Amino acid sequence: MADSIFPGEQPDRLEEECGVFGVYAPGEDVARLTCYGLQALQHRGQESAGIAVGDGSTVIEAKDLGLVTQVFDEATLAGLGEGVVAIGHVRYSTSGGKASWEAAQPHISAIDDTLIALAHNGTLVNTNHLRAQLIDEGEHLRAGTDSEVAAKAIGHLTRQTHHLREGIRYAMENLEGAYAMVLASPEALYAFRDPHGIRPLCIGQLPEGRGWVVSSETCGLDIVGAEYVRDVEPGEMVRFTAEGMVSEQAVPPRPRASCIFEYVYFARPDSVLDGQSVYQARRAMGRILAEEAPVEADLVLGVPDSGVPAALGYSEASGVPFTDGIVKNRYVGRTFIQPTQAMRQLGIRLKLNPLPSVISGKRLVVIDDSIVRGNTSKKLVQMLRDAGAAEVHLRIVSPEVLWPCFYGIDTDTREQLIAANMTLEEMNDWIGSDSLAFISLDGLRASLADAGHDGFCTACFTGDYPVPIPDDVAKKSFLTRKDFEAVYAGEVS
Ligand code: SF4
Repeated sequence: MADSIFPGEQPDRLEEECGVFGVYAPGEDVARLTCYGLQALQHRGQESAGIAVGDGSTVIEAKDLGLVTQVFDEATLAGLGEGVVAIGHVRYSTSGGKASWEAAQPHISAIDDTLIALAHNGTLVNTNHLRAQLIDEGEHLRAGTDSEVAAKAIGHLTRQTHHLREGIRYAMENLEGAYAMVLASPEALYAFRDPHGIRPLCIGQLPEGRGWVVSSETCGLDIVGAEYVRDVEPGEMVRFTAEGMVSEQAVPPRPRASCIFEYVYFARPDSVLDGQSVYQARRAMGRILAEEAPVEADLVLGVPDSGVPAALGYSEASGVPFTDGIVKNRYVGRTFIQPTQAMRQLGIRLKLNPLPSVISGKRLVVIDDSIVRGNTSKKLVQMLRDAGAAEVHLRIVSPEVLWPCFYGIDTDTREQLIAANMTLEEMNDWIGSDSLAFISLDGLRASLADAGHDGFCTACFTGDYPVPIPDDVAKKSFLTRKDFEAVYAGEVS
């Protein structure tokens, strides 16, 4: 599934909001290690990048709009100085509005004379309530982001208890929604995760006991040579200081609801989340989809990147040969493409290009990760037909996306989700495929047999939200296209 590369154009995909990374390692180049970690997590957010370093007495940071390699050159890294602790963040803007320097993270906040830096992956659902409460209690908020609200809540409660650890714990009792957070004080690293464990967060250790690392995904541990220790548990707070790692169950865990879409699309294939290899999960999804939705065809191909392991699995189970049939241009970034009409018309071809010599005259099974609005699938099918494909059968390794996500993913109102507004046959006709099928939810769950739990958030397929959505948000977001038309016709209020 390809996203839009034009600024201001809604991407036709679910967009991950953030990646977080943290290091506690006195004597190491913590800023550089964090920079490497963020490069491994770049797929989770490309709009801004930031690093904050604690040197034992204060916290300083550098952040800006752009990719990690654009924001951090040698001089910027050197400017962060030597430290004992660092945290980093890559961001895709959603809840904080358009991309802006102020909304970039880490978010620095003062607790009396002490600075802290906070980085957040996820979205809080009670930000408005918390913000009003904090303002009532005399706090000044400016950035308008979830991370600012969380940092202010932590600061407010730390002043009352005189312990940062207690401030974080009390804040966790009040934050509702999805959060995987890392926090740097001048001399310590903290990592904590919401009680449902919606967004991922794992812990690693550098060789020879040189320090500790926390990352959204294990690919961030791999790049700095850290060994995976375990995942941060739902509701757990972990503190890293000169005394080592100390864990506490800060808030009681609630029913497990880890985002199932991390396995389908968001996470890197070389990551392992809660014990489940993302690559193996995708391959299993393809095998299961082949059993659930077989079709007579000559070749199976995957839409890069996430569709490729699933296409291999589909080929294994069906016996239909796998081929590379679509080439991805990896060097088309979001930032520098100007949205001229001519470039818009190029559309999907800027990112994906078919191989006519492979697919011409062939009946294709094309494996993709999901369909959100459907525009990209429509263009993809047309592009394959233009390249000579005799038939195009779309097979999707997620169930139909019927509901918006409020936990850190940039999705739409139901009105914009194609599957919430059309039947399967209508979608197939509109996209222009010869046939269309989605994996079942049971099939998707079955592909995650190695995960250390079976508690997954599946709300975007089922509407069963693990953290209740406030009425003011749900009211508009839950309307389908028909509902909107009825509203405009004055038939419902
Ligand atoms: S609603 Fe969907 S995308 Fe959002 S956290 Fe749940 S499974 Fe993930």
